[in-house]
Amino acid sequence: MIPNSTIGTEAENWYEKSSNEVLDVFDSSSSGLSSAEAAARLVADGPNQIKQAKRPGVARILLSQFRSLIIWILIVAGAVSGIMGEMANAIAILVIVVLNAFMGFYQELSAERSVDALRLLTAPEVKLRRDGRVLSFPAVQVVKGDILMLEAGDLVAADSRILQAASLSIMEATLTGESETVEKQAAAFLPGKIPIGDQSNMVFMGTSVAAGTGEAVVVATAMDTQLGRIASLLDQAQSEKRTPLQQKLDAFGRLLIWIALGIVAVLFGLGYLRGTPLGELSLTAIGLAVAAVPEGLPAIVTVALSVGVLQMARRRVLVRKLATVETLGSTTVICTDKTGTLTVGQMTVRALYVAGISYDVTGEGYGPDGQILFADKIAAGDHLPRLLALASVQIGCNNAHLFEEEGIWRVIGDPTEGALLVSGGKAGANRVHMDEESPVIIELPFDSDRKRSSVVRKMPNGRLGAYVNGAPGPLLARCSHIYTQRGVVPLLSEDRRAILSVISGMAKRSLRVLGSAQRDFDLVLNTDICADEVECNLTFVGLAGMFDPPRSEAKGAIANCHAAGIRVVMITGDHPETASAIATDLGIASGALATTGTDLEATSESDLRERAPLISVYARVTAEHKLRIVRALQANGDVVAMTGDGVNDAPAIKGADIGIAMGQTGTQVTKQSADLIVTDDNFATIVEAVEQGRGIYDSIRKTLQYLLAGSTAELLLMTVCVIIGLPAPLLPIHLLWINLVTDGLPALCLATDRIDPSVMNRPPRRRSESMTDRRFLSTMLLTGLLTASVAFGVYFYTLTTKDAETARTYAFTVMVFSEILRAFGARSETESVWRISLLTNRSLLAVVVGTFAVQIWSQHNAVLGGLLKTSPIAFPDFLVLFMFAAIPLFVLELFKLVRPVSVQN
Ligand code: ADP
Ligand code: MG
Repeated sequence: MIPNSTIGTEAENWYEKSSNEVLDVFDSSSSGLSSAEAAARLVADGPNQIKQAKRPGVARILLSQFRSLIIWILIVAGAVSGIMGEMANAIAILVIVVLNAFMGFYQELSAERSVDALRLLTAPEVKLRRDGRVLSFPAVQVVKGDILMLEAGDLVAADSRILQAASLSIMEATLTGESETVEKQAAAFLPGKIPIGDQSNMVFMGTSVAAGTGEAVVVATAMDTQLGRIASLLDQAQSEKRTPLQQKLDAFGRLLIWIALGIVAVLFGLGYLRGTPLGELSLTAIGLAVAAVPEGLPAIVTVALSVGVLQMARRRVLVRKLATVETLGSTTVICTDKTGTLTVGQMTVRALYVAGISYDVTGEGYGPDGQILFADKIAAGDHLPRLLALASVQIGCNNAHLFEEEGIWRVIGDPTEGALLVSGGKAGANRVHMDEESPVIIELPFDSDRKRSSVVRKMPNGRLGAYVNGAPGPLLARCSHIYTQRGVVPLLSEDRRAILSVISGMAKRSLRVLGSAQRDFDLVLNTDICADEVECNLTFVGLAGMFDPPRSEAKGAIANCHAAGIRVVMITGDHPETASAIATDLGIASGALATTGTDLEATSESDLRERAPLISVYARVTAEHKLRIVRALQANGDVVAMTGDGVNDAPAIKGADIGIAMGQTGTQVTKQSADLIVTDDNFATIVEAVEQGRGIYDSIRKTLQYLLAGSTAELLLMTVCVIIGLPAPLLPIHLLWINLVTDGLPALCLATDRIDPSVMNRPPRRRSESMTDRRFLSTMLLTGLLTASVAFGVYFYTLTTKDAETARTYAFTVMVFSEILRAFGARSETESVWRISLLTNRSLLAVVVGTFAVQIWSQHNAVLGGLLKTSPIAFPDFLVLFMFAAIPLFVLELFKLVRPVSVQN
């Protein structure tokens, strides 16, 4: 083993060297490094990662807690108390400052950790050849000398010298700003200086494969790459901002602080004029400021969002951007793929058509059992050579592999090709034989714009033969001849008509139809030949109709969307009639014919915008059309979620409000441009994510409501007493206790409450809607008023009959009781308390019971009682206080009954 950390650290002109020379420098070979060697190099050179802008360390996060105004208000309050000899008060305030800072610190740290965990889950993967086998690895594990396997949709994980390339083209915009793709090949350059944009035998980290396939040997990783050198330029773009909702609430919180300080100043002046002693006045003023500010507010949003994100990960949705969680709740249209998302993505060929005859195929799944039937009898005799002719195209141009695992046959690769492999096998064709007899020369893999794939093989007779499978309509347009019972003859228009009607018949049965064609060549082809040159003057051979059953849960999920006021739009590359048949079956559209890509070409932007709200099924579209559809919907004010899997889908995914990539079939590029990754590719999971998004928004709203109503009550009570000239009903320590313990803990439980089962029964929230709308503010005021009135009544009455300390204790107790009781009512804005089981939020129940116990115990405990300045309350009085404390909850519940449920929107 050579000393690794020194290999190739010199920035060399790799493009001048032949691929073998480069392999030698890195002590690698075309079968790749050994795992042991790769592991050693990883240790020596470090992970293949661009260093990000320094993220705040533990100490920084802790310090940042002291940057908030409220903490300083508290510290000043503590100091003032200390100076005035109120030591207990001062210590209590300081303890609470530390506790508060620690809680904020802990929440921020765990939010940071969970974001890290998610980043790991959504990290890009690469295919490497190691120990002679191709396996998938996290991109950070790539080392120099590794062999990268590249195909359309892959991200290039490190700077590498190309060893082989087949129609390989790369998107280098991230590096060069050039939006055109660049063709790549393996040939070396003459010595000399060449800018990276022209180094066509090199691929660079951070770029992506637009088309074709290739292999390349890694020459630089991490900060040694071209991307690493310019990484400092990218830093800013990568740091995640606070989400729009967080920003709005930050601003709202600041506004509250200033309002509170304003009120405090006015009351302070008023007290001063009346001649209240300055010391007492400052304490009250500090108390008021503390009362008005909901300390828990910023933490609540972070906690609700990050807990939500983790819950979603458990339900197979990876969130790549926190802000997405907020947008999800206001989704109005979900544009979804058909194959694999609405359907299970498991194809079985049910029908074949060749030389003018239709056949049925039996057997399910990817297993070899099953027969080809003609008129309900096993096809034999003359049928066999024709079926074999079709099968050889289906199998000859095919990259899928079948394998048996625990008695179940599975497919590796494209399920469509897997199905063709199975039906080809049923007709007696065998790819292993074929590969020996006629080796593959050129592959032109499937892409969703061409909608076909081709393979050119060297035939035993020395000529070249092309096998083409693809969407039958467009394929037919490229055929000039047809294979018939009489041999190959020119394709007439009546043949076309007959074939089109067979296609349409299959499509109406919900079958995905694939056409097969072939040709041979006189000329010698070079490997750089483009698809158009191969896929023309073809001989049409036959059709296969395959069934891909709808997912059983999709129908229910679509019905849920409709109940939730969300439109579902199917966008597929498949045949319009297949699309319509499945859409009708799933309840997306009722029999209306699909709008096709060709229709879209003929539609102007403004017409599309007008028609978009009425179209539920798009068929035979390309990726470019997807972007137009997104734009048209957005122009109408829709909030659009869009799924995609292929490379070409990336622009549409980026353009959508919520871009969703498929975890299993999605390419790396799609995943990197998406906001969400759905790991099971299932439509129902997307709908669950929307539900979660709505639920999280609700939780934040109700928690905010709960906290602010509490602050309003405290502020009202204090203000009224100061104005009337009564002694302060609550001491700063009481207010802190209420804000942090008896409000803070229930608030945390509310922020992570279960999702209201009815969230999907109402229309989407408008994105422009403010969280603090009229209903929100009026409920907040009403609640504050009720709670303050009850506490004031109790305080005033006790003050006239007993001493000030007892009156304070009573006011404090009734306030705490009513706050924690109200936490139950705050769980839903519309649903009555008695309809929501207490057991669905056990932590809230525990917090409430615990707080009750502590409240009662504190009055009989010398230390806590001394700290909180409370005196013991007799048991009968407790019951009375409890009953008074329940009044706000009861009144609010009555309001829920009379207010119409739909006011929410
Ligand atoms: P979707 O995923 O929306 O169903 P695709 O873009 O995957 O649509 O496919 C569009 C059409 O291309 C299909 O209807 C089929 O006729 C054809 N097709 C799909 N996969 C392949 C493949 N692997 N090889 C050849 N043709 C294919
Ligand atoms: Mg597809």
